[in-house]
Amino acid sequence: MEEAVDFQRTYVEDHQGSKGLYERAVEVFPSGVTHDSRFLKPFPIYVTGALGVKKWDVDNHEYIDYWMGHGSLILGHRYPDVVEAIHGQLDRGTHYGACHELEVEWGERVVEMVPSAERVRFMASGTEATLMAIRLARSYTGKRKVIRIAGHYHGWHDAVSIGVVPPFDVPNSSGIPEELLKLTLVLPPEDLQELKKHLKRDDDVACVILEPSGGFSGAFPATGDYLRALRELTQTFGVVLIFDEVITGFRYAPGGAQEYYGVTPDLSSFAKIVAGGLPGGAVAGKREIMEYLEFKEDTQWNRNKKILHPGTFNANPMSAAAGVATLKIIAQGEVIPKANENAQSIRNTLNQVIDRHGINWCVHGEHSVVHILMNHRCPQQGACDRRRCTYDYRRIYQKDPPLLSMFRCAMLSQGVDSIGDHWWISWLHSNDVVEKTGEAFDKTIKTLKESLPDRFNTP
Ligand code: PMP
Repeated sequence: MEEAVDFQRTYVEDHQGSKGLYERAVEVFPSGVTHDSRFLKPFPIYVTGALGVKKWDVDNHEYIDYWMGHGSLILGHRYPDVVEAIHGQLDRGTHYGACHELEVEWGERVVEMVPSAERVRFMASGTEATLMAIRLARSYTGKRKVIRIAGHYHGWHDAVSIGVVPPFDVPNSSGIPEELLKLTLVLPPEDLQELKKHLKRDDDVACVILEPSGGFSGAFPATGDYLRALRELTQTFGVVLIFDEVITGFRYAPGGAQEYYGVTPDLSSFAKIVAGGLPGGAVAGKREIMEYLEFKEDTQWNRNKKILHPGTFNANPMSAAAGVATLKIIAQGEVIPKANENAQSIRNTLNQVIDRHGINWCVHGEHSVVHILMNHRCPQQGACDRRRCTYDYRRIYQKDPPLLSMFRCAMLSQGVDSIGDHWWISWLHSNDVVEKTGEAFDKTIKTLKESLPDRFNTP
């Protein structure tokens, strides 16, 4: 561990500006950060600007960025059309407290692009979007329980704060009453028998919610067969099927994973790309379910059935401008294949590095998301195509936080910034960027192997 200390010392020495800001930040924010994923030991970097796939910190370091606005920037930072739309809107006003034309166009685009979207509502985040989707399902069915799949992430509200990380039967956050958690059932991924068993014996289930990519942006990938069977099963039992397309929306296909797999859910949640890198979310779906947001002449309906939906930043004009500009470009068809191609090139490059070092890591993933499995005992012993990892999902979701933290620091020192083990790829991560990333990864593995040899014991 002596060298590990040295390696961290170099990080500290090279990032004095960030260190200073972090020292101020810990005096105002719990743990000094404003998002749990940005927490990093010894401290995170502080960024001053970004363009394309690059960003710069207060110490004048340049980074290749694989956060891509937590997955919201498939066009890269400051894409000219998006910037122009935002500037144009800024000159007209940031918040009208009123209906406006751009929100209508934004809604029309979602309805046009997303197969299941007959009606849509905008909100401020993905968490709000899944919260609303679940509420709609409960109102529509008059039932209470939510079935969710182990390892899938749907934001941080109460109903989805269990079953996210192993062990899947305890909440991933404190502060949630046990009574509420009892209303959420966590089932294993790709297990239709288990789901059928539950639906048969429990008639209080309102919805099944899942990431149609498979959990954590496709770390344990779902299959089209599973999604189709899920559609049939939920229809048979009168349960609302919710696709959480916060990641897959406008990334897997212009109409999301539902278009890619040809499976139409009842409701879908969106965020990130839908708002073009500005804050925003959306719920879209069947008219007869979305109807629960409507005002009617019937006062009994308004009092007893209507779902309340205020929200200061719902369909904010700035987000609408960025969202419309982004969706327009995606609809033209070039962005998604290019981002997929870049991601595959990154996966190939990183796996070549892994093979050269003879370590049991694996880089996999589909579409424009890249996943890194660290110390992965692959049962396929080299026979795997390293796209879809279907090894025991409990092992896939099991992380090594100290190793991840060291990996992030070492990559930062080599000019690459990522959330750690999953990277979002834009259509601008082209070959020269991939090559540099491969070199940074190579140096990082070398450093980590030297500093933490006990973490690299091959089986
Ligand atoms: N659902 C999924 C699939 C997500 O990946 C996320 C965020 N990463 C959310 C919901 C929550 O979105 P937000 O962070 O905008 O609340």
